[in-house]
Amino acid sequence: MLPSSAFGIQVNSTDLQTPAGAQPEKISDVPLTDKFGRTIHDLRISITDRCNYRCVYCRTGTNGAAFAELPFDDYLRMARVLIGLGITKIRLTGGEPLLRKGIVEFVRDLSKLRTLQGKKPEIALTTNGHLLAEIAQPLKDAGLDRVSVSMDAVDPERFARITRVPNGYDSVLAGVRASQRAGLDPVKVNCVLLRGFNEDQVIPFGMFARDEGVIVRFIEFMPLEEGRVWTPEVVVTLDEIVARMSEYRPLVEIERAPSETARRYRFSDGVGEIGIIAPVSRPFCGHCSRIRITSDGKLRTCLFSVWDHDLHELMRRGEPDDKLAEFIEAVVNKKEERHHIGEPGFVPASRTMVHIGG
Ligand code: SAM
Repeated sequence: MLPSSAFGIQVNSTDLQTPAGAQPEKISDVPLTDKFGRTIHDLRISITDRCNYRCVYCRTGTNGAAFAELPFDDYLRMARVLIGLGITKIRLTGGEPLLRKGIVEFVRDLSKLRTLQGKKPEIALTTNGHLLAEIAQPLKDAGLDRVSVSMDAVDPERFARITRVPNGYDSVLAGVRASQRAGLDPVKVNCVLLRGFNEDQVIPFGMFARDEGVIVRFIEFMPLEEGRVWTPEVVVTLDEIVARMSEYRPLVEIERAPSETARRYRFSDGVGEIGIIAPVSRPFCGHCSRIRITSDGKLRTCLFSVWDHDLHELMRRGEPDDKLAEFIEAVVNKKEERHHIGEPGFVPASRTMVHIGG
C-alpha cells in the first residue's frame, strides 16, 4: 500500500548542480550500450501516471495516480544527462501526458538540447488524443516531431465501452486530424486488440488508415494491466491480424529499421500503411533500444522489470551530472535480456503499463 501522500503530489525541485536544460555535456564517446551489446538510444519519459480514460484492459476502473510527478526541470535534467550518453529520441508518455500543464514549454526546452551528433533530439508523444485537438499545433511549434494516438475502436459506441468515458471518439478523431494539419509526421494510431471484445475492428482500422492517411499499428496485448486478467487466449496475434486484414486487401511487408518494434505492411494497391507490434508472438527484445523514466523519476530498463532504479533520489541528494551518468550506465548494464511472457514462472512486472509509461 502506498502512503496517501504519494497520490498526485509534486516532489519539490532538486538542488541542481547545473541548469536543467543547459546544453548537454558530452559525457561519453561510447554510445550507451548494455552487456548484450544493445545500443540504447531511445528514452521514454512518463510525465504523469494519471489518465482521463479508464480503458478496460489497462485500468481497474480508477483514473488516479499511484506515483508522484516531478517538476519538468527534473525530467529535463535527466533527459540532458541521458542525451549526453547517446540518447537521440525522446517520447513523452504517461498516464495521459496531455493532463500535465506546461507540456508545450517542456517540449520547447527538450528541443533545445543537442544529441552527441549535434542534432535536435527526435521528440514524440503517445497520447489518448482526448485533449490533442487544441494543443497539436502549439506542440508542433515547440518542436514535437510526431505523435501516436491510442484508439481501440473506430466506432463511437465501442470506443466509449473500452475507454469508459462517454463521447470521447469525436474528440480523439479531431485530435488525429489536428495533428495532421499541424504537420506532425507521421501520425500513428495505436490499437490493442482483445479477443472477444474488439478483434472485429481489424478491417475497420484498415479502412481508417486508408481514409485518414494515418499509420495504424496493432499492438499485441501484454500482461501489464492493473486487473491481471491477461491470458494468452485473449491476445490477437500478428498472424491473425495479417490473415484478417488480407481478407479485406492483400498486404505487402515493407522494410523496417532493425530497432523498429513494428513490422510494417502496405496494402497492395499502395494506399495506406499498417504496422503490427508483436511482443508476445514475435518478441523483439534482442533489438530493444529503450530505457524509461517513470513519472516519479525511476529508471526502468524493461517494461517487465521487477525493480526500478531511483535516479531522482540521486538528484535529491544533490549529486552532480557525472554521478547521474555513472548510475545510468550501471543501470543500463543490468538491462534484462528479454521478457518471459507466457513462460512458466513468469513474474509480473513491478508496475502496470499506466504507471510505467507505454
Ligand atoms: N495515455 C496515453 C495513451 O493512451 O496512449 C499513453 C499511455 S498508454 C499506457 C500507452 C499505450 O499503451 C496505449 O496505446 C495503450 O493502448 C497501450 N497499452 C496499455 N496497456 C497495454 C497492454 N497491457 N498491452 C499492450 N499495450 C497496452
